[in-house]
Amino acid sequence: MSLLRKSFELHGIIQGLGIRPTVHRIAKRFCLGGSVQNLGNSVRLELEGSEGSIEAFLCTLLKEVPSATRIDLIKELRSEPVSEVVSDFKILESAPNSEYAVSFPPDLALCRDCLAEIFNPADRRYGYPFTSCTVCGPRYTVIEGMPYDRERTTLKFFPLCKDCQEEYRNPFSRRFHAESIACPKCGPKMRITDKSGKALNQEPLSTARQGISEGKILALRGIGGFLLSLDAFNSSAIKELRLRKQRPHKPLAVMMRDLSVVKRFCHVSAIGESLLQSAEAPIVILDLKEEARRELPVDLLAPDTETLGVMLPYSPLHQLLFHPLKGDPVQAFDVLVMTSGNKRSEPICIKNEEAFLRLQDIADLFLVHDREIVLRADDSLVSIQEEVPQIWRRARGYSPRGFKLKNTISVPSLGMGAELKNTAAIGFDGQIVMSPHIGDLETPEAVDDFEQVIKCFPEFLRREPERVLVDLHPDMHSS
Ligand SMILES: [Zn+2]
Ligand SMILES: [Zn+2]
Repeated sequence: MSLLRKSFELHGIIQGLGIRPTVHRIAKRFCLGGSVQNLGNSVRLELEGSEGSIEAFLCTLLKEVPSATRIDLIKELRSEPVSEVVSDFKILESAPNSEYAVSFPPDLALCRDCLAEIFNPADRRYGYPFTSCTVCGPRYTVIEGMPYDRERTTLKFFPLCKDCQEEYRNPFSRRFHAESIACPKCGPKMRITDKSGKALNQEPLSTARQGISEGKILALRGIGGFLLSLDAFNSSAIKELRLRKQRPHKPLAVMMRDLSVVKRFCHVSAIGESLLQSAEAPIVILDLKEEARRELPVDLLAPDTETLGVMLPYSPLHQLLFHPLKGDPVQAFDVLVMTSGNKRSEPICIKNEEAFLRLQDIADLFLVHDREIVLRADDSLVSIQEEVPQIWRRARGYSPRGFKLKNTISVPSLGMGAELKNTAAIGFDGQIVMSPHIGDLETPEAVDDFEQVIKCFPEFLRREPERVLVDLHPDMHSS
């Protein structure tokens, strides 16, 4: 049997999405030697084995890539005969000084396997709100630098315990080289505080659930920032939120426990179902059923409209807010209001201290944690027009995925966006990478957010803009 050594480069949306562990697992299955390495904008593969095994490897890889990954191109670089193959297959350290641009990964909704773990009393991650693996968990919002590795995320403050290290090193584990993993022993922790930020000496999740069941407004530190949550069946709590937030009419988004609850209250098409359950997990605007009018205070949730913005619990923390753990007397919630944790026209809060200050007149309780959020990301918002999804607010889950262009952009260019509903963008080579929705640049907080984005995006993508595109209006902050 003739043996070969072949090198390939994989291009696409592949960083931080579990591609390297997947490659490793499949290489082992076909007894291939070699290595996989993250180069920044691509993944480099060295494969050693028979031609048939290498072919089978590539076919299997395309079938088994993690769901959020997109391989656009497999480029063969080299092929040479070898007399024997090394039996080992290694994941090499990322190349930190790659001169290439990188595609940095979006946050991914909780996967089924992690969901099963957090509700399994025998699992060591039972009830743990920061459970994640190679195919789910925070990415974009915790990244401090590139390439995407744990040491360049805010998880670096939580060194892995022995059990987590074993999972991280075990090629047959779902957590093999998963950068954002943690467990109750070594990872971030929750705490609950009163409205002044004073810690309450109580179990955080059950206290938060108890508070919601009593009609309180909870400020919750989520994936991309703070959210305000309350019982969506409680009319007086919704009225109170609208009063405190000075938001009399704008619709409030809700989170529903699972798809069966969504189907009880809303008309959902197949495309709607797949959007709700996708790794991006956006808010989807759905038509209300008669059932919703009978049971929910829809005139308070979404006045003057026949629709409601609905999402499913996309992080372990949200799941644990909906469902009681053993011994918690408060029943599962069906529908919770889940609206952005901000004051009018300000961006959502991401830091605990900032939230205690800015949301103290709105929230009764704060459910916070110590996993820092670096980059802000609102929940994305999608509507469905004639069975085609239209993204109205492109943020968590979608950003910072790039758009491919037909033509190449001659020099790296930074687009500063508009004054209202701002989004910045950087274009280079054959793609444009848009920032998440930043919002109206009317407050110092929003301008700070905008400035952080236009600093980080070129840095993380390793593209120094040679051209900056601005609106000619002289008074816009973005100009
Ligand atoms: Zn997972
Ligand atoms: Zn651990």
